[in-house]
Formats: sequence, structure tokens, C-alpha cells
Amino acid sequence: MLRQLVYCSSAQSNITAEKLERITEDSLPFNHQNNITGILLFDGDYFFQVIEGESDTILWLFDHLHNDDRHTNIVKIADMAIKERDFGHWHLRTIYLDPSDDCYWLPPDLMIRRDSRVFGLLNGFATGRWRSGLSGVDPKVTNTHIVTCEQTLVAQANFDYQFAFQPIVDSKRQVISSYEALLRDNTNRYPDQILNAMPPTERYEFDLESKALAIAQGAQLLTAEQSLSVNLSPGALVHHPDVACTLLSQLQRHNMKPHQLILEITESELIEENDSFFSAIEKIRSTGIKVAMDDFGAGYAGLSLLADFLPDKIKIDRSITSGIHTNGPRQAILSAVLEFSNSMGIPLIVEGVELLDEWLWLQNTGIQKFQGFLFAKPKLNGVHAINFEVSKLSKTHAHLTPF
Ligand code: C2E
Ligand code: MN
Ligand code: MN
Repeated sequence: MLRQLVYCSSAQSNITAEKLERITEDSLPFNHQNNITGILLFDGDYFFQVIEGESDTILWLFDHLHNDDRHTNIVKIADMAIKERDFGHWHLRTIYLDPSDDCYWLPPDLMIRRDSRVFGLLNGFATGRWRSGLSGVDPKVTNTHIVTCEQTLVAQANFDYQFAFQPIVDSKRQVISSYEALLRDNTNRYPDQILNAMPPTERYEFDLESKALAIAQGAQLLTAEQSLSVNLSPGALVHHPDVACTLLSQLQRHNMKPHQLILEITESELIEENDSFFSAIEKIRSTGIKVAMDDFGAGYAGLSLLADFLPDKIKIDRSITSGIHTNGPRQAILSAVLEFSNSMGIPLIVEGVELLDEWLWLQNTGIQKFQGFLFAKPKLNGVHAINFEVSKLSKTHAHLTPF
């Protein structure tokens, strides 16, 4: 089976047009022998390469390319089976896009259809896309230093459920902006197992009632500038005639302001959105309580729901952020969602950030708020300490929170 793979990478600083020619000459015999074809664009800072050939050979070559110290920050942009090659007559065609040229240039003998994906990709690179790789120390990474203490709350012995809290970090302001309360029970079951074990009506009652404990405990963690996020299923939201009133009185009991509570609604559960869902949201909003769209990008509800719902916050699911620093399609999606949320004035929170490189890419792209094990895991009846330090001089100075 034939495969075509496209990647972009940051070049080592000393690569000149002459060196590029040598790279091409060095690669040609190998490509010839293994029937690899393709094209390499270089603009002085970045490589953009298409490689084609037998599937196993291409996968081996891509793996091997990671050991080549002439480039770093390799981002895989496309990788798929193809019927026929786009660059069948070139074992390696190299094009130097002169950065001092105002107009970009792709040679007319490229012989690829202008409406093909591969032309779109090459054209995209030639016109400035895909230059978000992080070359060594990124200039936009200013010193980031977030150190907070562990907090422990009194466990509620008379309840058969509990909450674990996880901080959401604003790494630009270098503070914890909010905490998310995550449901647990005394036998260490996770939220899905706890909730799915109940019949729907009981589940909806329980979901709302349990928020009294989340709010009581959350109130002990918060400063006046911080918020508390709680998850509530859309079913629970529409099942109760007055969710807003119940939550308001719980907030008042603990001296919390309505705007300090964020209801996270899971996108995948919103498939059956209807008028009663939207009117429940209206009621909630009229009290000042905020609503967030949770797990955006993971579920079934799509962009039209986003347009109708216009949440106060969008939380991007871990399935989008995981490995984002090496994944071109996810980078493109995240940038598009960020563009939307900036246009609409809706803050984005990314979930599930585990790696420093993921955080570097995300914050470089303009994300400000993060939740994930990189900063702190959820802690039962409390919050873990954060000890996160990235200095401009070296990203290896990051100290991760010990658990
Ligand atoms: P969620 O609201 O998206 O919560 C974040 C989940 O991601 C949590 O899982 C958290 O432990 C996990 N997480 C956070 N950072 C990372 C990371 O860096 N890597 C990885 N691998 N995971 C990370 P958890 O606690 O198992 O909760 C699962 C889901 O259950 C929640 O997802 C939420 O949708 C739901 N849930 C939690 N509490 C409640 C509740 O009180 N009511 C309802 N209806 N649903 C709840
Ligand atoms: Mn959530
Ligand atoms: Mn989520």
C-alpha cells in the first residue's frame, strides 16, 4: 500500500541554501533505492516535506527523521494511504522559498492539480502557515512561576459521595483562576460509574443535590477572585423546575457570589438539546451564574450548538490537546476554535494538559487557561500544591508537582 506523509519542522539555525542542496544530494540515493518520492520546501527557518512510498518505508523514514539533528519540533500534518503518487517523478524535489522575497513562488512544473489537498498544503506553507513550531527557547515564553500550597478539607463522613478538586490555572496571570469539583464515592468509583448506576430520575436528583457539598467545600478553597466549576448533566438541568433557585440559595449559605459558580455542561450529552434546555440556561444566566461548554471537540454536538448556546466559557477536550505539539490537524482545529472564541469574547480553557511541550505550544498560540496533570491532579477533599516554574533560559527548568 502506498502512503503519503506531510510534516513541518523547525530547521537548525545554521542551514543555508547550500546546505539544503547537500541535504538533497545526500537523500537522493536512499530515496531512489527505496522508491521514495516527494518534495521539500525550506524558507530559512522551517522545513515542509511531503514523502511518498510504500507504507512501511514511509513510517520507518518518518521515525528515522526524528533522529536527524538538522531539525526539531516535528509536526505531522497529514498521513494517509494514497492510490497514486503526487510527485512520482521526483525522488526529492527541493525548493528554497527565499524569505526576502515578497512574493512566494511554487514552480509551474509542479504538475499537481490546484484543487488537490497537497497543493493546498504546499500553498499554505508558502503563504505563511505552519510556522508555529517552537524553536528551542521560544521568545514568547516569559518566566512563568506558579507555586501554590496544598489545601485539605475535612472529609464528610456522613456522605457516601465526595468531591475531588482540580485547579484551573491562568498561566499568563500566574494564578489559579478556578477549581473544578469532580464527583467521587467512597469506593473510588469514577463519576460515570456512580451516575450510570442510578436510574435517570434518581440520577438527576442526585446530580443537583450533590452540588450542595461541592459548593460547601469549594467555598472553603476560594478567594474572592476565584470561581468554582461544577458539572451538571443537561438532564438534571431540565428535570428540576428551579435549578437556578436551588443553586443560588446554596451559594448564599456559603457567602459565594453567583458569578463565582460555573456550571459545566457536557457537550456529548447535549445531543437532545431542546427548548427546555435553552430556557433552563436562560434562567441560570439571569441569576449571574455562569455556564461553560465542557468537553468541546469530543462529543456529538457540533458548531451549531456552540453558535446557539454561546457559553461563558469553552473547555476543549483532552482528545484535542493530547500530543498537540506534534499533531498538525489538532493544531489547526485548536487555532480555529481560538479564533472563534476570541471573536465571540469567550475564554477558552484547555483540559488534560500533561506535557510541558503541550503547554508550550498552547500558550504560544494564545491559550491562557489550563487544566491538567501538568499543574495538578484532582485531590479528594482538597487541592494539591502546584510547583510550576518555566524560565525563559531553559524549558528544562520546569518542576512538576509531585503527587
Ligand atoms: P470533565 O468535566 O471533563 O473533568 C475532567 C476529567 O479529566 C476528570 O476526570 C479529571 O480527573 C480528568 N483530567 C484532568 N486533567 C487530566 C489530565 O491531565 N490527564 C488526564 N488523563 N485526565 C485529566 P473524572 O474525575 O474521571 O471525571 C470524568 C467526567 O465525569 C468529568 O469530565 C465530568 O464530565 C463527569 N463528572 C464529574 N463530576 C460530575 C458531577 O458531579 N456531575 C456530572 N453530571 N458529571 C460529573
Ligand atoms: Mn467538567
Ligand atoms: Mn471536560
